[in-house]
Amino acid sequence: MKCPNCHSEEIHRSRRRGLREGLSLRRKQLAPYRCSACGSRFIATEAQTAGQQRPLSMADYLGLNGRARQLCSDTVILGGITSLLLVLGILLFMSLALGWIEPELLQRHAL
Ligand SMILES: [Zn+2]
Repeated sequence: MKCPNCHSEEIHRSRRRGLREGLSLRRKQLAPYRCSACGSRFIATEAQTAGQQRPLSMADYLGLNGRARQLCSDTVILGGITSLLLVLGILLFMSLALGWIEPELLQRHAL
């Protein structure tokens, strides 16, 4: 990738300005770059920079492909885990509060 202004190849990723620019650029897989030679800022496709890979998402870690990957964004996965933990926490609280599990009984068994 070259600078559109001076055609230098000394470019680096620039910060996205604000939330709105960040979101709109990310959706289009674009990213801002700055030329080290002339200092001009420009927008280009994110994938063009070799070696600079986007951080792995959770779907990457889970090895999801195709449709499952589209469905399981990081937000969905995190939301799922969070709600699962919430339900487990509520169940634990309920079981203790309603006496389904008696802590004393558990301790007596352990000894
Ligand atoms: Zn330049």
